[in-house]
Amino acid sequence: MNFNYLLVRLGELTLKGRNRGRFESLMLGKIKEALHACAGLQYESSYGRVYIKLNGADAAETMSRLADVFGIQTISPVLRTSHDLEEIRRAALAVLQAHLPVPSTFKMSVKRAWKAFPHDSMEMNHLVGAHVLRNTPALRVDVREPDVELRLDIQPQGVFVYCSVVAGAGGFPLGMNGKAMLLLSGGIDSPVAGWLAMRKGLEIEAVHFHSYPFTSQQATDKVVSLAQRLAYYGGRIKLHLVPFTELQTLLAQQKQDHLIITLMRRSMLRIAQRLAERSGALAIVTGDSLGQVASQTLGSMNVIGRTTDLPLLRPLVMMDKLEIIRISERIGTYETSILPFEDCCTLFVPKSPATNPNLRVVEGVEHALGAELARLVDEAVAGTETVTLTERGRLDAKPAPAAEDRWF
Ligand code: ATP
Ligand code: MG
Repeated sequence: MNFNYLLVRLGELTLKGRNRGRFESLMLGKIKEALHACAGLQYESSYGRVYIKLNGADAAETMSRLADVFGIQTISPVLRTSHDLEEIRRAALAVLQAHLPVPSTFKMSVKRAWKAFPHDSMEMNHLVGAHVLRNTPALRVDVREPDVELRLDIQPQGVFVYCSVVAGAGGFPLGMNGKAMLLLSGGIDSPVAGWLAMRKGLEIEAVHFHSYPFTSQQATDKVVSLAQRLAYYGGRIKLHLVPFTELQTLLAQQKQDHLIITLMRRSMLRIAQRLAERSGALAIVTGDSLGQVASQTLGSMNVIGRTTDLPLLRPLVMMDKLEIIRISERIGTYETSILPFEDCCTLFVPKSPATNPNLRVVEGVEHALGAELARLVDEAVAGTETVTLTERGRLDAKPAPAAEDRWF
């Protein structure tokens, strides 16, 4: 049986007024973009839905291309008919009989959005349900726990018949809620935080701090791969690679081993804020998860977070590691994240990092460094290299450089 339409329901149903119109027109654009390779599709958009006329294209294949589009709540492959009762009955029977696994029970659900339709929902329930029962041996009605719910959606432009409703990625269309700067390390957490932020409609630019040559080329390559994976969801992504070696070395010399992570994170945030301001990002996103490590206790977050005036978004803050891992597997970052290459923060991990750093002591250390610290922050910002990545690689890729001047 060939479905002739996809019914796409858009998410965030609570959106009101002007935002709703913007949401819907952005969504239509994103959906068309995701399906640009499928010729011959036609689109109709109305009241939080997009109807896609397949014109012979395969429903399952087209649906799979929409699986990662943010802002889609659910998708159903549907058979669209006219308002003719016999045609509706035939379609209902075909849809039910095509359903796999073969159901032994079903129930009808009729929604009559078009009030001028001659039969009301109850009548349609019987008129269509009885036809399906008569023509499907061994099928029974079960209104409580049916194997299949056969739905009729009666709209002015036609009737949509379907029984499967597949969950979409949810959220908002990318970019609808502005831009944020993601602190992207090579670990499991920050790519997941980035994906969650993107799903909420935030365009993302990523910033990564490396301590080359203390950290290896592979460590940077790994972050580039993770950013590329995020670009799969976002079309393209800017990655800022910040040289952090000198700052890190200066901080490590302060003989405050237990505070080194706190001090490093504060400097990272200062730099991230500068980069965010430069590119119009209005928030900083991190992969912090409460209590996971010393730098992610409430005490640490308090002392670290004070360095920036921008909202610090921590999508994972209340999640368990297992939940985070599950998402990272689903979005395709896990395998890369668990590669062993060291991050700049693992280089100087002290034996007992402060779980409750003292703000005054931390500020005292920074104060003593004074202009030197400010200069190195400036230099790190100035020395930042920015690459624009797509799912496939660098957008501005030049012929492969000689091995020795390859920096990522
Ligand atoms: P992740 O798995 O994201 O590395 P983590 O559990 O290892 O997180 P930390 O190493 O404490 O936690 O880092 C906390 C957050 O700080 C990271 O999620 C990330 O947002 C940011 N971060 C840490 N190191 C870097 C880095 N080298 N470059 C950019 N951001 C970083
Ligand atoms: Mg990490």
